[in-house]
Amino acid sequence: MDAILPTTQTDKLIDKFGRQVTYVRISVTDRCDFRCVYCMSEEMAFLPREQVLTLEEITRLSKAFVEMGVSKIRITGGEPLVRKDIVNMLADVAKLDGLDELVITTNGSQLVKLAQPLKKAGVKRINISLDSLDAEKFRKVTRVGELENVLQGIQAAKKAGFERIKLNAVILKNRNHDEVLDLVQYAMKEGLDISFIEEMPLGTIESHSREEAYYSSDEIKRDIEQQFELVPSTKNTGGPARYYNVGGYDNLVGFISPHSHNFCDTCNRVRVTASGSLLLCLGQEHSMDLKRVLRANPTDLNKVKQALVDSMDIKPKGHDFDLTEQPVIFRHMSVTGG
Ligand code: SAM
Ligand code: SF4
Repeated sequence: MDAILPTTQTDKLIDKFGRQVTYVRISVTDRCDFRCVYCMSEEMAFLPREQVLTLEEITRLSKAFVEMGVSKIRITGGEPLVRKDIVNMLADVAKLDGLDELVITTNGSQLVKLAQPLKKAGVKRINISLDSLDAEKFRKVTRVGELENVLQGIQAAKKAGFERIKLNAVILKNRNHDEVLDLVQYAMKEGLDISFIEEMPLGTIESHSREEAYYSSDEIKRDIEQQFELVPSTKNTGGPARYYNVGGYDNLVGFISPHSHNFCDTCNRVRVTASGSLLLCLGQEHSMDLKRVLRANPTDLNKVKQALVDSMDIKPKGHDFDLTEQPVIFRHMSVTGG
């Protein structure tokens, strides 16, 4: 049994700049059944199994976070739904007292089979990545993905009855920038939210120049406004997304703009990689090895909580991505989980 934290110890995660961490994104695997061009290189070396946190370790870590005031956990990857027994782990995490929201980000490839079980496990909301509605372009962006399978997965998620479903689209100039309006039309027709993400320079990729492929949120917004009225929404996630209500629809369009809009002042989040490294900022290397702490203290959650408190001292003030330079962050997005 894990011991109870002494009352003298701080019970919240607050960094040097007064920002409280209430949101954690946990990558449960670095593996994936897709090879999206902006996320992975064609040949990837994946982690050996013993270096990846076990599902039990992830559940314990989630418990430590929740007991330290974290109210939202996003499970991501790699592709989280290719990890064996993930649904059972999600059911355990969903039960943690104090956790308001358990959400997941997926490429949608397993949803035909898993949408219902995920809902039943207690996952409240789901983000599904969808960069193109054209099967050939979809294949080019994902290298191996089947559009039809993902579209069926989206229907399965709708049927399962999640609170909200949001699509995520990474827009690249000359690959899918001409599909912005089609994607919004599809989202509105299906009653889904949609966020457009500016590509981030994480890891070395060989398929394109990130600088040439840059298509800004402002350009995307201008494209959408050819047909839809966008009214700024008050929804604030403390993250990089800015949301707009779409005139005549109940759904939102969001823009995740790490380049054109800095969001660090209100940052409320940290990330855990599949190998148990706690990343204090997506755009910096500041990290702490939680796998070591978890494995050294298999029955003492206080040690894990203390490590989380200590990590707050190294959470950096912010990041500054630069598309014209070689990547300063060498880990791929599949390691970080987005
Ligand atoms: N496999 C799942 C998926 O694709 O939704 C979850 C992990 S994926 C790394 C999470 C999100 O990060 C996806 O929406 C993906 O499009 C996005 N992403 C991956 N690489 C990116 C990059 N270099 N810049 C911006 N977004 C990226
Ligand atoms: Fe896999 Fe998601 Fe990365 Fe695409 S974005 S390669 S689906 S982890």
